[in-house]
Amino acid sequence: MVSEHSHSKVMGWYVCKNCLKHEEIIRYFESLRKEEKKCVICGETSDSIPLTNHTLLQNLMRAIIRFEYSEFEYDDRAGLERLLQGENFILPTLPSLSIQNIYQKRKIFGRWTPQPLMEICALERKHNDIPIFASEENLGGAFDLPLKDFSADWRRLRIHFDQGERDSFEKILTHNLSEHLPGIRCKLKKGRTFFRARIGCNESIQNKATVRTPYQGSAIDRSPAGISKAGKFNPKEVSVFYAADNLKTAVAETRPHPGHYVSVGKFSLKDDIQLIDLSIIPFYKFCNNTRDLATFAFLKALQAFVVTPIVPEEQHLYDLTISIAQLCRSLGFLGIRYPSSVGSGLNVALFDDHVDYIGGSSKLYRLRELKFELKEVVYKLNRKQIPCET
Ligand SMILES: [Zn+2]
Repeated sequence: MVSEHSHSKVMGWYVCKNCLKHEEIIRYFESLRKEEKKCVICGETSDSIPLTNHTLLQNLMRAIIRFEYSEFEYDDRAGLERLLQGENFILPTLPSLSIQNIYQKRKIFGRWTPQPLMEICALERKHNDIPIFASEENLGGAFDLPLKDFSADWRRLRIHFDQGERDSFEKILTHNLSEHLPGIRCKLKKGRTFFRARIGCNESIQNKATVRTPYQGSAIDRSPAGISKAGKFNPKEVSVFYAADNLKTAVAETRPHPGHYVSVGKFSLKDDIQLIDLSIIPFYKFCNNTRDLATFAFLKALQAFVVTPIVPEEQHLYDLTISIAQLCRSLGFLGIRYPSSVGSGLNVALFDDHVDYIGGSSKLYRLRELKFELKEVVYKLNRKQIPCET
């Protein structure tokens, strides 16, 4: 167990939130008790956390380096220092030279000089929990790909899945998704509301005009068991309640086209329930050994897979997400929460019957326009000739 406050007896450096950048480091920063201290980077006195001898922060930094970069991108210690002093994913770069000069006049480091960098990445520490140089740790070979692009367990799982080897597939899944995993559980309280949308509405003629009203009650609830089509987390004829935590996400999840009328109703939770939460996977809970780091890479791959919509030609992939749901259920979770690929909110899939329709809550919306954001896919080869999407 790593103590987060073991360094407090020693005088040391502190770092403030402004001088950290990666969202996973910020998340860790937010989880800690802050102290009113002078930041070693910018020199301001504000809410800060210790930098010196901060083992968990060092492990997190190293884990993020492994997650974001292949070893070819930093090569050696000098290369890593260069990488972290320039534009990078992990630490901010100072905006201008003049600001650096002001800092230096105040006899403060003013930029990521080697000393705090070595400290934050624990380059001097003999035995690190998270190796960032494969050769130094006698692991043979280099880390060819960043972990964000490669999870060994996820790749094995996909191979077993494609070959129909269900036992091996489930073993990997169970291993990586156990009930004991920290940080991927969330509890939702009784009374919590969700939005559920359905394309279409009721129509009636009133004085020659067509009047549209939203679906209510069972017309907007999940389809009853026995007639449900297979979905992301439900096999055929098994009913799962899909909903979102905000209006726009619920509408977007129905994939409407401009001109469509969409009915939206609100539902509330009947009881407190515990879910598997794939919306946020806090890295700092997975950064103290290489096994946890591999689990994190697996969960991020799983998260990306769950979030990406399954196209009609690849319906067989539903078997994979359905297996994930069945495993969660067998571990005692009552549903899954996951980010939406089409909205800013979160989706939930709840097994069994845990919600009530809120009477009279339905409203009708008409979709005015859809916007698309495109990015051309381009590959560049890294030094090992491995194509990497830019
Ligand atoms: Zn600072």
